[in-house]
This record gives sequence, C-alpha cells and structure tokens, in this order.
Amino acid sequence: MKTVVIDAKTIAAQIKDEIANEVRLNTEKGMRPPHLAAILVGEDPASKTYVASKEKDSHSVGFTSSVYRYPETMSEKELLGVVDFLNNDPDVDGFIVQLPLPKHINENNVINAINPDKDVDGFHPVNVGKMVLGMPTFLPATPYGIQTLLERTGIETSGKHCVVIGRSNIVGTPMANMLSRNASNANCTVTLCHSRTQNLKELTLQADILVVAIGKRHFVTEDMVKEGAVVVDVGIHRVDDPTNPKGYYITGDVDFEHVAPKCSFITPVPGGVGIMTRVSLLMNTMTAYRRNMEKA
Ligand code: NAD
Repeated sequence: MKTVVIDAKTIAAQIKDEIANEVRLNTEKGMRPPHLAAILVGEDPASKTYVASKEKDSHSVGFTSSVYRYPETMSEKELLGVVDFLNNDPDVDGFIVQLPLPKHINENNVINAINPDKDVDGFHPVNVGKMVLGMPTFLPATPYGIQTLLERTGIETSGKHCVVIGRSNIVGTPMANMLSRNASNANCTVTLCHSRTQNLKELTLQADILVVAIGKRHFVTEDMVKEGAVVVDVGIHRVDDPTNPKGYYITGDVDFEHVAPKCSFITPVPGGVGIMTRVSLLMNTMTAYRRNMEKA
C-alpha cells in the first residue's frame, strides 16, 4: 500500500495565505482588520504557549490581536466583567477564554456569558446547538480543522464508515456529529467509541476513516486498522528524550511507524491536526469579521 502522509503544513499555509490576502484587500479598501482577542487567567505554561501561538498566528495574517492577562487569583465576577466588556466592544470580532480556568472559576458560567456571535471557539451552547442542527456557526477548532484537512486533501467522505475514538466535548463528540451531517464534506456513517465500548478492535477494523482522540500514546496499533484506511491522529504527547535538543519529542495516539504502511492516508504528529486546529480559529475569526463588515 502506497501511503500518503497528509501534508497539513502546506494546507494550513495555503489557508493562511487566503486569509491574509482577504485581509489585505479589505484594509486596502480602508476597512479595519479582523480583531481576535484572548483572555488568559493564571500562569499555566501550556495555556501561555497556546495563547502566544494564537497571537503569532493572528499577526501572521494581518489580524489585530489583543491578550488580556490576569493573575490566578482573579475572581469569577471579575472575569465575567471582562467577558462583558469584550462582548460589547464593537472593534472585537471574536474572542476566546483560554481553558482550563483556575478551579475557583466555573467554566460553564464563563462560556455561557460569551456572546455567541463572538464565540470563535464554538463552545457556547447556542453554537453547539447550531452545529448539531447543521446551521452556519463557529465550529470547534479541532474537528473543523480535521474536516478541512480531509476536504482539501481530496478524501471522499460520503458513504464511508468513520470510526471516532473518544467522546470529548471539544473533539470526539463534535467530530462524530459533523461527519454524519448531510453535507458534501461529510455524509459518513459514524461510529463513536469511548471508554465503555466493547470489542473496540472489531469496530476500528471496519473504519474507512479512523479518527483517534483518546489521549493514550500509541494506543492504536497496526492490528486495529484496515488495509487502505484513512487515519487521523489527534493525540499529542510530550515524551522526555535527553537525546533530543529540545529534551523531548512529540508523538500521537497512533503507533505511526507500524500503522502508516497499512493506510492510504495518515496524519503525522507533530505536523498534522495540531496545525489545523490553530488555523480553524483564524477561519472562525474571519467568519465573525465578515458578518460584522456586512452589518456595518
Ligand atoms: P479526553 O482526554 O477528554 O477524552 C478521551 C476520550 O477517550 C474519552 O472520551 C474516553 O471515553 C475515551 N477513551 C478513554 N479510554 C478509552 C478506551 N480504552 N477505549 C476507547 N475510548 C477510550 O480527550 P480530548 O480532550 O479529546 O484529547 C484527546 C487527545 O487529543 C489528547 O492527547 C489531547 O492532548 C489531544 N488533543 C489534540 C488537539 C490538537 O489540536 N491536535 C486538540 C485537542 C486535544
């Protein structure tokens, strides 16, 4: 089997070029650029890295980016005040609240307070509801990125059996929903597997498209994958490695080395789904911006 390693880097770069061009054309006409804001509470190193990446991505396509940083001790009331401020700032097209939040803050209260029209993470229940109904909305970044990757790679989804492993609210559950919709980039028959699934291997062996979001390093092995399947690896694991200049390497939920030879297409880790997740936030911000410019 000739395996194609899906080139997410090139696809992400193409999408960023398309966005940057649209922004440039608009600003040349005198319009303001899109504005993406982020709220970061506390000092969690991973959250700081994610927010820094979002800032860098925004600048790379010509967006205005602002980050509101607050100490770990910020109260829920104070945070809700900042959310309210951004909800009402006409110059902000969309914003995200970086999760996880400190334990004393109720995440649901904060997500519910975001204006759904500015919820570019797609986490507000109104946007989740619209996604389930197939209405235009902000799609959650990781599944949106995966769907875009499949589409732009030219992988047929219609009528295919897609098996999703993992049912998190941010990846597995929306992925299963989105790929089962009656849409040209979907129309899959979907099986959603989770920690209580019995005979997992029996199911994964039926997958034409296997999306793995389980959070267990190299969980999917070659004996679980059908010859010719498309495998999408969502997992991200940092493994200590003193021989690596960074002191670690990144790997996924799939045993890439042994699974790849059986696949028609497979996403690498790093350089796969993670890159597309970042691009999705830019695509959602463009959607919010276009809506605002139409209204203006
Ligand atoms: P999670 O950790 O919230 O949930 C894991 C899911 O796996 C659960 O729904 C659980 O039911 C299921 N599961 C656990 N054990 C199982 C088993 N033995 N058989 C079948 N299912 C089982 O998942 P998440 O937040 O979706 O993250 C999954 C992985 O993806 C993590 O490694 C995370 O770091 C990574 N991730 C990557 C990106 C990206 O942009 N690449 C984005 C989000 C998450």
